[in-house]
Amino acid sequence: MSARLLEGKIVAAKIKEDLKKEIESLKSKTGNVPKLVSIQVGENPASSVYVKAQKKTAESLGIEYDLKILNASAAEADIRDEIQAFNVDKKVSGVIVQLPLPEGIDHKPVISAIAPEKDAESMHPENLGHVLLGDAKLVPCTAQAVMTLIEHSGIDLYGKEATIVGHSDIVGKPLSMLLLNKFVTISVCHIATGERGVLCEHIKNAEILVVAVGKAGLIKGDWIKKGAIVIDVGINRVDNKIVGDVKFEEAREQASFITPVPGGVGPLTVTMLMRNVLNAFRSQHNL
Ligand code: NAP
Repeated sequence: MSARLLEGKIVAAKIKEDLKKEIESLKSKTGNVPKLVSIQVGENPASSVYVKAQKKTAESLGIEYDLKILNASAAEADIRDEIQAFNVDKKVSGVIVQLPLPEGIDHKPVISAIAPEKDAESMHPENLGHVLLGDAKLVPCTAQAVMTLIEHSGIDLYGKEATIVGHSDIVGKPLSMLLLNKFVTISVCHIATGERGVLCEHIKNAEILVVAVGKAGLIKGDWIKKGAIVIDVGINRVDNKIVGDVKFEEAREQASFITPVPGGVGPLTVTMLMRNVLNAFRSQHNL
């Protein structure tokens, strides 16, 4: 039997309804609404798509949104200065810097310049530390979107076997901690796993498989355990179409649940960003 789809759009719609109500109620209590500032340095087509989605979602929820575009030639110090101005602006609840930054600029000191309590993507080392400790108030958006979709399948996570392919700071690493904090047994794969040719070995026993690599068709359907939950984070453009990292049609015959690409993790990621902005606003106003 073919897997059921885990559609981020549908899950996001319900969460957004709740966020909108909460924001309306906070507005009538305090007279204020959360505000997100997005910083984009130079031109990047993927970032431009993401900031458009941020603006649309924020405004639909009653969150104020500002996009600050800096010239591609901006120095690291210029970006940090902009961030600092938003850090001290009491009207700003959350700040996000679009990655990747132009070549030659290290994103780590830039992200570290965001005040941890305004770090809308939860990429600051202090917030990632809280993710590790299991007491984070702000959670990395894509990792949280993946967790929400897994939980939406109805699976009891306790003691389950999961494999994550991809160990980036933004997806694979924080997700591994979120799953570990739920007593999932995890295996995290990366380039060396692929180069050694043992990806399949790590995938075949996974009851939950999450793939976040950015290589179309990397994961074959017959590697997947029968009945697994498959979350495909990858976004790849092939022949003018957006596809994931998993061979969807093959995987669908093996899995019990699977995310479509597009329409799976993506729509939920931006919703999680807005939830972080709301949570940041609450903490800043002791609400
Ligand atoms: P990234 O920083 O480039 O990380 C890719 C990861 O894949 C790295 O850990 C890399 O390992 C690993 N990898 C590369 N080739 C591999 C192979 N053959 N076998 C196993 N592992 C391999 O990318 P990212 O930012 O995490 O994003 C990953 C994908 O998810 C991209 O397609 C991106 O567009 C998408 N994405 C989607 C969303 C969403 O909301 N839907 C959000 C974020 C990202 P090494 O580092 O060791 O080379």
